[in-house]
Amino acid sequence: MTRPALAQADALALNAVLVAARQAIDVVCDRWSLSLVIAAFLGARRFNEYLESTGMANRLLTARLASLRADGLMASAPHAEGSPHQAYRLTGMGEGLFNVLLQMLRWEQAWGPQDRAGSVQALHLSCGSPLRPQLRCAACGVPAGARDIELRLSPAQMQRMPAKQTARRRSTLGSARPDPGVPVLGASLDIFGDKWGIEVLLCAFFRVRRFGDFRLCTGIAANILSDRLSRLIAAGVLRHDAPDYRLTEMGIDLYGVVVAIQDWADLWLADRYRSPLALIHRGCGGVFHPRAVCATCEAPIRHADVGLLDQTPFPAPR
Ligand SMILES: [Zn+2]
Ligand SMILES: [Zn+2]
Repeated sequence: MTRPALAQADALALNAVLVAARQAIDVVCDRWSLSLVIAAFLGARRFNEYLESTGMANRLLTARLASLRADGLMASAPHAEGSPHQAYRLTGMGEGLFNVLLQMLRWEQAWGPQDRAGSVQALHLSCGSPLRPQLRCAACGVPAGARDIELRLSPAQMQRMPAKQTARRRSTLGSARPDPGVPVLGASLDIFGDKWGIEVLLCAFFRVRRFGDFRLCTGIAANILSDRLSRLIAAGVLRHDAPDYRLTEMGIDLYGVVVAIQDWADLWLADRYRSPLALIHRGCGGVFHPRAVCATCEAPIRHADVGLLDQTPFPAPR
């Protein structure tokens, strides 16, 4: 017996979730923008430093720095008094993405090939141990896995869904890869640097399984959808048990990054249509907010407490 197609109620709910998610996806899920945010966390400030650490072309870098400023993630000021050079720094909103990067790091440490040099060599300065983030419920402090979190839909919030949505549908997968060696958090960038891929992934979290249902929910053209499904399978986060596409354990474990992005969006994209989705921690019954703590000393990880070991030509930001 085959599973029936996605129920209409589920499709409506998922549509509302996607409408909310797209507002964050459009700001965050771009390979180049994420690369620049990571470079900034690693200490880049000047145009040439961003150029060097990302391998982006001049014009592309100029364009992305402008959109990061327009979106409020970065601000620029003269590098020094009277200097013609600008320094580009993360704003509070940009700094807020630190929690998202910590969840990417956690996921890569759990699943990434050990020989891949793209992970960050960093220390938790508070205890002197290598930086190993662990995901916990901020309310009760207990480690929380994907299956410990319940998804609850608010019908009232679904009713508030805007009829029209304006989304930027720029995708960066087609462009040439940067190649300054293996990029930091490269495996995460492959997944979260692409808007379409993320939408497919979100649908999979909602137990969408069939090709036609993915199309229905996302509106992605068939050829692009095939390509993204193949990429996600190649990345190890989906598997194809024909006719179904399902998340692998590695894919399910991406929940930490997804939840961290939603948390960031709820805080910083305040006037957006908020997701009708509430995340409840089954363990304590509270609303689930992710908190990254150090696996060794169990203290919450703050940006100021992280020291970089090497692999960066820039001094660690203070
Ligand atoms: Zn809890
Ligand atoms: Zn520690």
